[in-house]
Amino acid sequence: MAVRWGDDIIVIDAGLMFPEAELLGVDIVVPDISYLIENRRYVRAIVLTHGHEDHIGALPWMLSELNVPVWGTEFTLAYVEDKLDEHELLDQTDLREIRPGESFKIGAFTIHPIQVTHSLVDCVALAIHTPLGVLLHTGDFKVDPTPTDNRLFDLHAFAEYGKEGVLALLQDSTNVERKGFTPSERAVRRKFEEVFARTERRLFISCFSSSIHRIKLAVELAWEHGRNVVFVGRSMVSSAEIAEDLGYMEIPQGLLLSPGEMRNTPPEKLCVLISGTQGEPMSALSRAAVDSHKHARIEKGDTVVLSSRIIPGNEKAIYRMVDHLFRRQAHVIYEDGSFPPVHVSGHASQEELKLILNLVKPKYFIPIHGEYRQLALHAELAAAMRGAVGNVLLIESGDILEFDELGARKAGRVNAGRVCIDSGSRTDVVEDLVIKDRRHLSEDGIVLPIIAINKLSGRVETSPEIVTRGFEPGEDGFAEGARQLVMQTLEVSSEEEKADYGVIKEKIRADLKRYISRQTQKRPLIMPVILEI
Ligand SMILES: [Zn+2]
Ligand SMILES: [Zn+2]
Repeated sequence: MAVRWGDDIIVIDAGLMFPEAELLGVDIVVPDISYLIENRRYVRAIVLTHGHEDHIGALPWMLSELNVPVWGTEFTLAYVEDKLDEHELLDQTDLREIRPGESFKIGAFTIHPIQVTHSLVDCVALAIHTPLGVLLHTGDFKVDPTPTDNRLFDLHAFAEYGKEGVLALLQDSTNVERKGFTPSERAVRRKFEEVFARTERRLFISCFSSSIHRIKLAVELAWEHGRNVVFVGRSMVSSAEIAEDLGYMEIPQGLLLSPGEMRNTPPEKLCVLISGTQGEPMSALSRAAVDSHKHARIEKGDTVVLSSRIIPGNEKAIYRMVDHLFRRQAHVIYEDGSFPPVHVSGHASQEELKLILNLVKPKYFIPIHGEYRQLALHAELAAAMRGAVGNVLLIESGDILEFDELGARKAGRVNAGRVCIDSGSRTDVVEDLVIKDRRHLSEDGIVLPIIAINKLSGRVETSPEIVTRGFEPGEDGFAEGARQLVMQTLEVSSEEEKADYGVIKEKIRADLKRYISRQTQKRPLIMPVILEI
Protein backbone atom coordinates (compact mmCIF):
# COMPACT_ATOMS: atom_id res chain seq x y z
CA MET A 1 0.00 0.00 0.00
CA ALA A 2 1.29 3.45 -0.87
CA VAL A 3 0.08 6.72 0.67
CA ARG A 4 0.64 9.87 -1.35
CA TRP A 5 0.28 13.55 -0.56
CA GLY A 6 1.50 15.80 -3.37
CA ASP A 7 5.10 14.89 -4.03
CA ASP A 8 5.52 12.58 -1.06
CA ILE A 9 4.87 8.84 -1.24
CA ILE A 10 5.36 6.39 1.58
CA VAL A 11 4.98 2.66 1.17
CA ILE A 12 3.56 0.51 3.94
CA ASP A 13 4.98 -3.03 4.06
CA ALA A 14 6.60 -4.96 1.23
CA GLY A 15 5.51 -8.57 1.36
CA LEU A 16 5.79 -11.67 -0.75
CA MET A 17 3.59 -14.68 -1.37
CA PHE A 18 4.66 -18.25 -1.83
CA PRO A 19 3.41 -19.57 -5.14
CA GLU A 20 0.73 -22.20 -5.43
CA ALA A 21 1.83 -25.48 -6.90
CA GLU A 22 0.59 -24.46 -10.36
CA LEU A 23 3.27 -21.80 -10.59
CA LEU A 24 5.71 -24.39 -11.71
CA GLY A 25 9.32 -23.46 -11.29
CA VAL A 26 8.65 -20.09 -9.69
CA ASP A 27 10.05 -19.60 -6.23
CA ILE A 28 8.42 -16.46 -4.89
CA VAL A 29 5.75 -13.98 -5.90
CA VAL A 30 6.18 -10.26 -5.21
CA PRO A 31 3.98 -7.24 -5.98
CA ASP A 32 4.17 -5.34 -9.24
CA ILE A 33 5.57 -1.93 -8.25
CA SER A 34 5.47 -0.20 -11.61
CA TYR A 35 3.51 2.72 -10.12
CA LEU A 36 6.29 3.30 -7.61
CA ILE A 37 8.97 2.99 -10.26
CA GLU A 38 7.17 5.54 -12.47
CA ASN A 39 7.04 7.88 -9.48
CA ARG A 40 10.37 6.93 -8.00
CA ARG A 41 11.48 10.50 -7.33
CA TYR A 42 8.57 10.94 -4.92
CA VAL A 43 9.00 7.71 -2.96
CA ARG A 44 10.37 8.72 0.45
CA ALA A 45 10.38 5.51 2.48
CA ILE A 46 9.07 2.05 3.17
CA VAL A 47 7.50 1.73 6.63
CA LEU A 48 7.10 -1.76 8.06
CA THR A 49 4.46 -2.89 10.55
CA HIS A 50 6.14 -6.20 11.49
CA GLY A 51 8.56 -8.88 10.34
CA HIS A 52 6.39 -11.57 8.73
CA GLU A 53 7.33 -12.62 5.20
CA ASP A 54 4.04 -11.34 3.79
CA HIS A 55 5.14 -7.89 5.04
CA ILE A 56 8.91 -7.79 4.44
CA GLY A 57 9.63 -10.59 1.95
CA ALA A 58 9.65 -8.39 -1.15
CA LEU A 59 12.15 -5.90 0.27
CA PRO A 60 15.22 -7.25 -1.57
CA TRP A 61 13.34 -6.99 -4.84
CA MET A 62 11.87 -3.57 -4.10
CA LEU A 63 15.10 -2.09 -2.75
CA SER A 64 17.00 -3.16 -5.82
CA GLU A 65 14.52 -1.02 -7.79
CA LEU A 66 14.02 1.80 -5.29
CA ASN A 67 16.78 2.61 -2.86
CA VAL A 68 14.78 4.34 -0.11
CA PRO A 69 15.06 4.27 3.70
CA VAL A 70 13.27 1.43 5.48
CA TRP A 71 11.64 2.13 8.84
CA GLY A 72 10.72 -0.62 11.28
CA THR A 73 10.87 -1.69 14.92
CA GLU A 74 14.01 -3.27 16.35
CA PHE A 75 12.86 -6.85 15.93
CA THR A 76 11.45 -6.26 12.45
CA LEU A 77 14.72 -4.71 11.34
CA ALA A 78 16.67 -7.68 12.71
CA TYR A 79 14.74 -9.94 10.32
CA VAL A 80 15.19 -7.40 7.53
CA GLU A 81 18.95 -7.28 8.11
CA ASP A 82 19.18 -11.06 7.81
CA LYS A 83 17.27 -10.97 4.58
CA LEU A 84 19.18 -8.07 3.04
CA ASP A 85 22.47 -9.61 4.07
CA GLU A 86 21.53 -12.76 2.19
CA HIS A 87 20.92 -10.67 -0.92
CA GLU A 88 24.03 -8.52 -0.41
CA LEU A 89 21.93 -5.38 -0.08
CA LEU A 90 22.58 -4.63 3.56
CA ASP A 91 25.46 -2.19 3.12
CA GLN A 92 23.60 0.04 0.73
CA THR A 93 20.32 0.16 2.64
CA ASP A 94 19.35 2.90 5.06
CA LEU A 95 17.53 1.20 7.96
CA ARG A 96 15.85 3.37 10.58
CA GLU A 97 14.56 2.07 13.84
CA ILE A 98 11.20 3.16 15.20
CA ARG A 99 9.73 2.68 18.66
CA PRO A 100 6.07 2.30 19.60
CA GLY A 101 4.77 5.61 20.85
CA GLU A 102 7.54 7.70 19.26
CA SER A 103 6.39 9.70 16.23
CA PHE A 104 8.59 10.43 13.25
CA LYS A 105 8.25 12.55 10.13
CA ILE A 106 8.57 11.56 6.50
CA GLY A 107 7.83 14.33 4.00
CA ALA A 108 4.33 15.65 4.58
CA PHE A 109 3.48 12.81 6.96
CA THR A 110 3.96 12.39 10.68
CA ILE A 111 3.76 8.74 11.66
CA HIS A 112 2.95 7.45 15.10
CA PRO A 113 3.61 3.73 15.63
CA ILE A 114 1.22 2.06 18.07
CA GLN A 115 2.09 -1.18 19.82
CA VAL A 116 -0.18 -4.11 18.89
CA THR A 117 -0.16 -7.84 19.62
CA HIS A 118 0.15 -10.54 16.97
CA SER A 119 1.76 -13.97 16.52
CA LEU A 120 5.11 -12.23 16.10
CA VAL A 121 6.70 -9.76 18.55
CA ASP A 122 7.39 -6.03 18.21
CA CYS A 123 4.47 -5.32 15.85
CA VAL A 124 2.92 -1.91 15.33
CA ALA A 125 -0.11 -0.24 13.85
CA LEU A 126 0.56 3.08 12.14
CA ALA A 127 -1.30 6.32 12.72
CA ILE A 128 -0.39 8.39 9.68
CA HIS A 129 -1.07 12.10 10.17
CA THR A 130 -1.84 13.78 6.85
CA PRO A 131 -2.95 17.35 6.13
CA LEU A 132 -6.49 15.95 5.71
CA GLY A 133 -6.62 13.90 8.88
CA VAL A 134 -5.35 10.69 10.41
CA LEU A 135 -5.17 7.36 8.59
CA LEU A 136 -5.02 4.45 11.00
CA HIS A 137 -3.48 1.29 9.55
CA THR A 138 -3.71 -1.65 11.96
CA GLY A 139 -1.11 -3.91 10.36
CA ASP A 140 -1.66 -7.53 11.43
CA PHE A 141 -3.04 -7.80 14.94
CA LYS A 142 -5.14 -9.52 17.51
CA VAL A 143 -6.11 -8.05 20.85
CA ASP A 144 -4.19 -10.34 23.18
CA PRO A 145 -4.78 -9.29 26.80
CA THR A 146 -1.94 -11.53 28.05
CA PRO A 147 0.91 -11.55 25.52
CA THR A 148 3.84 -13.73 26.57
CA ASP A 149 6.28 -10.82 26.35
CA ASN A 150 3.97 -8.60 28.43
CA ARG A 151 4.12 -5.89 25.80
CA LEU A 152 0.48 -4.93 25.76
CA PHE A 153 -1.80 -3.91 22.96
CA ASP A 154 -2.06 -0.12 23.21
CA LEU A 155 -5.86 0.15 23.22
CA HIS A 156 -5.52 3.51 24.88
CA ALA A 157 -3.86 5.02 21.81
CA PHE A 158 -6.66 3.74 19.57
CA ALA A 159 -9.24 5.25 21.94
CA GLU A 160 -7.41 8.58 22.00
CA TYR A 161 -7.41 8.71 18.23
CA GLY A 162 -11.11 7.86 18.29
CA LYS A 163 -11.78 10.87 20.48
CA GLU A 164 -9.72 13.21 18.31
CA GLY A 165 -11.27 11.91 15.10
CA VAL A 166 -9.89 9.53 12.50
CA LEU A 167 -10.29 10.07 8.79
CA ALA A 168 -9.89 6.41 7.81
CA LEU A 169 -9.32 3.09 9.51
CA LEU A 170 -7.66 0.33 7.49
CA GLN A 171 -8.04 -2.96 9.33
CA ASP A 172 -6.72 -6.55 9.06
CA SER A 173 -9.46 -8.82 7.61
CA THR A 174 -7.78 -12.24 7.92
CA ASN A 175 -10.06 -13.68 10.61
CA VAL A 176 -13.27 -11.81 9.88
CA GLU A 177 -15.04 -15.15 9.39
CA ARG A 178 -14.36 -16.18 12.99
CA LYS A 179 -16.85 -15.34 15.71
CA GLY A 180 -15.86 -14.25 19.19
CA PHE A 181 -12.33 -13.46 20.31
CA THR A 182 -9.09 -15.09 19.20
CA PRO A 183 -7.64 -16.88 22.24
CA SER A 184 -4.54 -15.42 23.84
CA GLU A 185 -1.15 -16.88 23.03
CA ARG A 186 -1.24 -18.08 26.67
CA ALA A 187 -3.90 -20.66 25.80
CA VAL A 188 -1.20 -22.70 24.08
CA ARG A 189 0.72 -22.90 27.34
CA ARG A 190 -1.84 -25.25 28.91
CA LYS A 191 -1.60 -27.63 25.98
CA PHE A 192 2.18 -27.51 25.97
CA GLU A 193 2.28 -28.16 29.73
CA GLU A 194 0.07 -31.19 29.21
CA VAL A 195 2.33 -32.47 26.44
CA PHE A 196 5.54 -31.92 28.41
CA ALA A 197 4.05 -33.69 31.44
CA ARG A 198 2.91 -36.69 29.41
CA THR A 199 5.82 -37.17 27.04
CA GLU A 200 8.23 -39.89 28.04
CA ARG A 201 10.60 -39.99 25.12
CA ARG A 202 11.87 -37.31 22.80
CA LEU A 203 9.70 -34.31 22.18
CA PHE A 204 9.74 -32.61 18.78
CA ILE A 205 7.97 -29.29 18.47
CA SER A 206 7.50 -27.67 15.11
CA CYS A 207 6.20 -24.15 14.63
CA PHE A 208 6.90 -21.25 12.27
CA SER A 209 10.37 -19.93 12.94
CA SER A 210 8.83 -16.49 13.47
CA SER A 211 6.54 -17.76 16.26
CA ILE A 212 8.75 -16.26 18.94
CA HIS A 213 6.05 -16.58 21.62
CA ARG A 214 5.81 -20.29 20.91
CA ILE A 215 9.58 -20.89 20.83
CA LYS A 216 10.00 -18.99 24.08
CA LEU A 217 7.27 -21.08 25.69
CA ALA A 218 8.87 -24.34 24.55
CA VAL A 219 12.27 -23.25 25.84
CA GLU A 220 10.80 -22.30 29.24
CA LEU A 221 8.94 -25.58 29.61
CA ALA A 222 11.94 -27.62 28.48
CA TRP A 223 13.95 -25.96 31.25
CA GLU A 224 11.24 -26.67 33.83
CA HIS A 225 10.96 -30.30 32.75
CA GLY A 226 14.69 -30.99 32.63
CA ARG A 227 14.95 -31.32 28.88
CA ASN A 228 17.76 -29.92 26.75
CA VAL A 229 16.80 -27.88 23.70
CA VAL A 230 18.04 -28.40 20.17
CA PHE A 231 17.16 -26.07 17.29
CA VAL A 232 17.00 -27.82 13.94
CA GLY A 233 16.55 -26.00 10.63
CA ARG A 234 18.29 -22.85 9.42
CA SER A 235 15.39 -20.43 9.88
CA MET A 236 14.66 -21.80 13.36
CA VAL A 237 18.26 -21.29 14.44
CA SER A 238 18.57 -17.73 13.15
CA SER A 239 15.17 -16.67 14.48
CA ALA A 240 15.98 -18.01 17.95
CA GLU A 241 19.30 -16.18 17.87
CA ILE A 242 17.62 -12.89 17.04
CA ALA A 243 15.00 -13.38 19.77
CA GLU A 244 17.70 -14.13 22.32
CA ASP A 245 19.93 -11.24 21.23
CA LEU A 246 17.07 -8.77 21.51
CA GLY A 247 15.99 -10.03 24.91
CA TYR A 248 12.71 -11.68 23.92
CA MET A 249 13.85 -14.99 25.25
CA GLU A 250 16.37 -16.22 27.78
CA ILE A 251 18.17 -19.45 27.18
CA PRO A 252 19.73 -20.66 30.44
CA GLN A 253 23.38 -21.74 30.29
CA GLY A 254 23.79 -25.35 29.34
CA LEU A 255 20.23 -25.77 28.08
CA LEU A 256 21.08 -25.65 24.41
CA LEU A 257 22.64 -28.59 22.57
CA SER A 258 23.89 -28.76 19.00
CA PRO A 259 22.07 -31.13 16.63
CA GLY A 260 25.09 -33.45 16.68
CA GLU A 261 24.70 -33.95 20.42
CA MET A 262 21.21 -35.42 20.07
CA ARG A 263 22.50 -38.89 19.44
CA ASN A 264 24.15 -39.17 22.85
CA THR A 265 21.38 -37.54 24.87
CA PRO A 266 18.81 -39.73 26.61
CA PRO A 267 15.44 -39.45 24.83
CA GLU A 268 13.62 -38.22 27.93
CA LYS A 269 16.06 -35.31 28.14
CA LEU A 270 15.42 -33.88 24.67
CA CYS A 271 13.18 -31.20 23.28
CA VAL A 272 13.80 -30.51 19.60
CA LEU A 273 12.48 -27.36 17.98
CA ILE A 274 12.35 -28.19 14.32
CA SER A 275 11.20 -26.29 11.24
CA GLY A 276 8.77 -27.59 8.64
CA THR A 277 5.20 -27.47 9.95
CA GLN A 278 3.72 -27.32 6.46
CA GLY A 279 5.22 -30.57 5.21
CA GLU A 280 7.55 -28.75 2.82
CA PRO A 281 9.42 -31.62 1.12
CA MET A 282 12.92 -30.35 1.89
CA SER A 283 12.26 -29.08 5.43
CA ALA A 284 13.95 -30.57 8.48
CA LEU A 285 10.81 -32.23 9.85
CA SER A 286 9.79 -33.76 6.51
CA ARG A 287 13.24 -35.22 6.20
CA ALA A 288 13.28 -36.44 9.79
CA ALA A 289 9.93 -38.11 9.13
CA VAL A 290 11.51 -40.34 6.49
CA ASP A 291 14.86 -40.90 8.24
CA SER A 292 16.79 -38.74 5.80
CA HIS A 293 17.85 -36.01 8.22
CA LYS A 294 21.46 -36.07 9.35
CA HIS A 295 20.69 -35.62 13.04
CA ALA A 296 16.98 -35.69 13.70
CA ARG A 297 15.31 -39.09 13.69
CA ILE A 298 11.82 -39.95 14.81
CA GLU A 299 11.54 -43.16 16.74
CA LYS A 300 8.81 -45.25 18.28
CA GLY A 301 7.23 -43.48 21.24
CA ASP A 302 8.56 -40.02 20.35
CA THR A 303 6.08 -37.14 20.37
CA VAL A 304 5.77 -34.65 17.52
CA VAL A 305 3.80 -31.44 18.01
CA LEU A 306 2.75 -29.38 14.99
CA SER A 307 2.06 -26.04 16.61
CA SER A 308 0.75 -24.14 13.64
CA ARG A 309 -2.16 -23.73 11.34
CA ILE A 310 -2.66 -26.08 8.42
CA ILE A 311 -2.46 -23.57 5.59
CA PRO A 312 -5.04 -24.39 2.91
CA GLY A 313 -3.28 -25.94 -0.05
CA ASN A 314 -0.74 -27.67 2.18
CA GLU A 315 -3.07 -30.32 3.59
CA LYS A 316 -1.80 -33.08 1.34
CA ALA A 317 1.86 -32.49 2.10
CA ILE A 318 1.20 -32.13 5.83
CA TYR A 319 -0.91 -35.28 6.14
CA ARG A 320 1.61 -37.21 4.08
CA MET A 321 4.28 -36.19 6.58
CA VAL A 322 1.97 -37.02 9.50
CA ASP A 323 1.46 -40.48 7.96
CA HIS A 324 5.20 -41.04 7.94
CA LEU A 325 5.30 -40.04 11.60
CA PHE A 326 2.45 -42.42 12.47
CA ARG A 327 4.24 -45.19 10.63
CA ARG A 328 7.15 -44.65 13.02
CA GLN A 329 4.69 -44.99 15.90
CA ALA A 330 5.26 -41.45 17.06
CA HIS A 331 2.50 -39.59 18.91
CA VAL A 332 1.51 -36.73 16.66
CA ILE A 333 -0.31 -33.73 18.05
CA TYR A 334 -1.74 -31.26 15.57
CA GLU A 335 -4.55 -28.75 15.42
CA ASP A 336 -7.73 -30.82 15.53
CA GLY A 337 -10.13 -28.37 17.15
CA SER A 338 -9.67 -29.80 20.66
CA PHE A 339 -9.13 -27.67 23.73
CA PRO A 340 -6.70 -26.44 24.99
CA PRO A 341 -5.39 -25.59 21.52
CA VAL A 342 -1.94 -26.51 20.25
CA HIS A 343 -2.03 -23.39 18.09
CA VAL A 344 -3.84 -20.07 18.22
CA SER A 345 -4.21 -17.56 15.45
CA GLY A 346 -2.40 -14.22 15.41
CA HIS A 347 -5.29 -12.35 13.84
CA ALA A 348 -8.32 -10.65 15.36
CA SER A 349 -11.73 -12.35 15.30
CA GLN A 350 -15.04 -10.51 14.88
CA GLU A 351 -15.39 -9.17 18.42
CA GLU A 352 -11.88 -7.72 18.39
CA LEU A 353 -12.48 -6.12 14.99
CA LYS A 354 -15.66 -4.55 16.37
CA LEU A 355 -13.84 -3.39 19.47
CA ILE A 356 -11.29 -1.46 17.43
CA LEU A 357 -14.02 -0.07 15.16
CA ASN A 358 -15.93 1.15 18.21
CA LEU A 359 -12.88 2.77 19.74
CA VAL A 360 -11.69 4.45 16.56
CA LYS A 361 -15.05 5.47 15.08
CA PRO A 362 -13.53 6.32 11.69
CA LYS A 363 -15.13 8.54 9.11
CA TYR A 364 -14.14 5.97 6.48
CA PHE A 365 -13.52 2.30 6.97
CA ILE A 366 -11.43 0.26 4.52
CA PRO A 367 -10.90 -3.47 5.05
CA ILE A 368 -7.40 -4.67 4.10
CA HIS A 369 -5.29 -7.85 4.25
CA GLY A 370 -7.49 -10.71 3.07
CA GLU A 371 -9.06 -12.52 0.16
CA TYR A 372 -11.88 -10.67 -1.58
CA ARG A 373 -14.59 -12.53 0.36
CA GLN A 374 -12.92 -11.56 3.64
CA LEU A 375 -12.71 -7.92 2.61
CA ALA A 376 -16.39 -8.03 1.61
CA LEU A 377 -17.45 -9.69 4.88
CA HIS A 378 -15.38 -7.19 6.84
CA ALA A 379 -17.06 -4.34 4.95
CA GLU A 380 -20.45 -5.85 5.84
CA LEU A 381 -19.51 -6.23 9.50
CA ALA A 382 -18.43 -2.58 9.66
CA ALA A 383 -21.44 -1.30 7.74
CA ALA A 384 -23.70 -2.96 10.32
CA MET A 385 -22.10 -0.84 13.06
CA ARG A 386 -23.90 2.35 12.14
CA GLY A 387 -23.03 4.31 15.24
CA ALA A 388 -19.31 3.71 14.92
CA VAL A 389 -18.50 3.93 11.24
CA GLY A 390 -19.18 6.64 8.67
CA ASN A 391 -18.68 5.17 5.21
CA VAL A 392 -17.34 1.80 4.21
CA LEU A 393 -15.18 1.52 1.11
CA LEU A 394 -14.31 -1.79 -0.46
CA ILE A 395 -11.21 -1.56 -2.62
CA GLU A 396 -8.87 -4.08 -4.17
CA SER A 397 -5.20 -4.12 -5.05
CA GLY A 398 -4.57 -1.51 -7.76
CA ASP A 399 -7.50 0.74 -6.86
CA ILE A 400 -6.72 4.38 -6.15
CA LEU A 401 -8.64 5.86 -3.25
CA GLU A 402 -8.64 9.63 -3.30
CA PHE A 403 -9.37 11.84 -0.28
CA ASP A 404 -10.02 15.58 -0.35
CA GLU A 405 -12.01 18.13 1.65
CA LEU A 406 -15.25 16.74 0.20
CA GLY A 407 -14.63 13.14 1.10
CA ALA A 408 -13.24 9.97 -0.41
CA ARG A 409 -13.88 8.10 -3.64
CA LYS A 410 -12.34 5.53 -5.92
CA ALA A 411 -10.36 7.36 -8.56
CA GLY A 412 -9.04 4.97 -11.14
CA ARG A 413 -6.50 2.22 -11.02
CA VAL A 414 -2.77 1.70 -11.29
CA ASN A 415 -0.89 -1.35 -12.46
CA ALA A 416 -0.85 -3.94 -9.74
CA GLY A 417 -0.45 -7.62 -9.74
CA ARG A 418 2.10 -10.25 -9.15
CA VAL A 419 5.62 -10.68 -10.35
CA CYS A 420 7.14 -14.14 -10.23
CA ILE A 421 10.78 -14.48 -9.27
CA ASP A 422 13.22 -17.35 -9.23
CA SER A 423 15.05 -17.39 -5.96
CA GLY A 424 18.81 -17.28 -6.04
CA SER A 425 18.62 -14.06 -8.01
CA ARG A 426 16.66 -10.96 -7.24
CA THR A 427 16.78 -9.79 -10.81
CA ASP A 428 15.39 -12.84 -12.53
CA VAL A 429 11.89 -11.49 -12.81
CA VAL A 430 9.27 -13.50 -14.55
CA GLU A 431 6.86 -10.99 -15.99
CA ASP A 432 4.16 -13.47 -16.38
CA LEU A 433 3.90 -17.15 -15.81
CA VAL A 434 3.18 -17.94 -19.43
CA ILE A 435 6.09 -15.84 -20.55
CA LYS A 436 8.28 -17.54 -18.05
CA ASP A 437 7.37 -20.97 -19.28
CA ARG A 438 7.80 -19.90 -22.89
CA ARG A 439 11.10 -18.24 -22.24
CA HIS A 440 12.25 -21.16 -20.22
CA LEU A 441 11.28 -23.54 -22.96
CA SER A 442 12.62 -21.46 -25.82
CA GLU A 443 15.93 -20.50 -24.27
CA ASP A 444 16.76 -23.27 -21.92
CA GLY A 445 14.41 -26.02 -22.98
CA ILE A 446 12.93 -28.73 -20.88
CA VAL A 447 14.36 -31.80 -19.21
CA LEU A 448 12.13 -34.69 -18.25
CA PRO A 449 13.68 -37.36 -16.11
CA ILE A 450 11.33 -40.33 -16.35
CA ILE A 451 11.48 -42.87 -13.58
CA ALA A 452 9.57 -46.11 -13.40
CA ILE A 453 8.77 -47.15 -9.85
CA ASN A 454 7.05 -50.34 -8.81
CA LYS A 455 4.12 -49.17 -6.75
CA LEU A 456 4.11 -52.17 -4.45
CA SER A 457 7.77 -52.69 -3.78
CA GLY A 458 8.92 -49.08 -4.21
CA ARG A 459 11.76 -50.40 -6.37
CA VAL A 460 13.02 -48.53 -9.40
CA GLU A 461 12.32 -50.89 -12.25
CA THR A 462 14.55 -49.68 -15.06
CA SER A 463 17.28 -47.15 -15.56
CA PRO A 464 15.77 -43.62 -15.66
CA GLU A 465 15.13 -42.08 -19.04
CA ILE A 466 16.25 -38.48 -19.65
CA VAL A 467 14.19 -36.75 -22.31
CA THR A 468 15.17 -33.24 -23.37
CA ARG A 469 13.46 -30.78 -25.75
CA GLY A 470 14.90 -27.45 -26.85
CA PHE A 471 17.82 -27.99 -24.54
CA GLU A 472 21.33 -28.29 -25.91
CA PRO A 473 23.48 -29.95 -23.28
CA GLY A 474 26.57 -29.36 -25.41
CA GLU A 475 28.39 -32.45 -24.22
CA ASP A 476 27.96 -36.01 -25.28
CA GLY A 477 28.08 -37.43 -21.79
CA PHE A 478 25.23 -35.28 -20.50
CA ALA A 479 22.38 -37.77 -20.69
CA GLU A 480 24.46 -40.50 -19.12
CA GLY A 481 25.65 -38.19 -16.35
CA ALA A 482 22.11 -37.04 -15.65
CA ARG A 483 20.86 -40.62 -15.58
CA GLN A 484 23.53 -41.60 -13.11
CA LEU A 485 22.75 -38.61 -10.97
CA VAL A 486 19.06 -39.56 -10.83
CA MET A 487 20.02 -43.14 -9.95
CA GLN A 488 22.26 -41.81 -7.22
CA THR A 489 19.48 -39.62 -5.81
CA LEU A 490 17.19 -42.65 -5.81
CA GLU A 491 19.79 -44.84 -4.15
CA VAL A 492 20.37 -42.51 -1.25
CA SER A 493 16.62 -42.10 -0.71
CA SER A 494 14.68 -44.36 1.59
CA GLU A 495 11.85 -46.63 0.40
CA GLU A 496 9.37 -44.24 1.95
CA GLU A 497 10.80 -41.23 0.18
CA LYS A 498 10.57 -43.13 -3.07
CA ALA A 499 6.95 -43.97 -2.34
CA ASP A 500 6.24 -40.30 -1.62
CA TYR A 501 6.26 -38.79 -5.08
CA GLY A 502 6.15 -35.20 -3.83
CA VAL A 503 9.39 -35.74 -1.94
CA ILE A 504 11.24 -37.80 -4.49
CA LYS A 505 10.35 -35.52 -7.40
CA GLU A 506 11.58 -32.49 -5.48
CA LYS A 507 14.84 -34.22 -4.58
CA ILE A 508 15.45 -35.22 -8.18
CA ARG A 509 14.56 -31.75 -9.42
CA ALA A 510 16.90 -30.06 -6.95
CA ASP A 511 19.81 -32.40 -7.68
CA LEU A 512 19.37 -32.18 -11.45
CA LYS A 513 19.05 -28.41 -11.34
CA ARG A 514 22.40 -28.19 -9.61
CA TYR A 515 24.02 -30.69 -11.98
CA ILE A 516 22.70 -29.01 -15.13
CA SER A 517 23.61 -25.50 -14.12
CA ARG A 518 27.10 -26.66 -13.25
CA GLN A 519 27.52 -28.55 -16.50
CA THR A 520 25.87 -26.11 -18.89
CA GLN A 521 25.13 -22.83 -17.03
CA LYS A 522 21.57 -23.26 -18.28
CA ARG A 523 18.36 -23.49 -16.33
CA PRO A 524 15.92 -25.64 -18.23
CA LEU A 525 12.50 -26.46 -16.84
CA ILE A 526 12.92 -29.74 -15.02
CA MET A 527 9.84 -31.88 -14.60
CA PRO A 528 10.42 -35.29 -13.08
CA VAL A 529 7.85 -37.80 -14.25
CA ILE A 530 7.15 -40.91 -12.23
CA LEU A 531 5.55 -43.86 -13.91
CA GLU A 532 3.91 -46.29 -11.54
CA ILE A 533 4.14 -49.82 -12.69
ZN1 LIG B 1 1.71 -11.11 10.37
ZN1 LIG C 1 0.18 -10.51 7.28
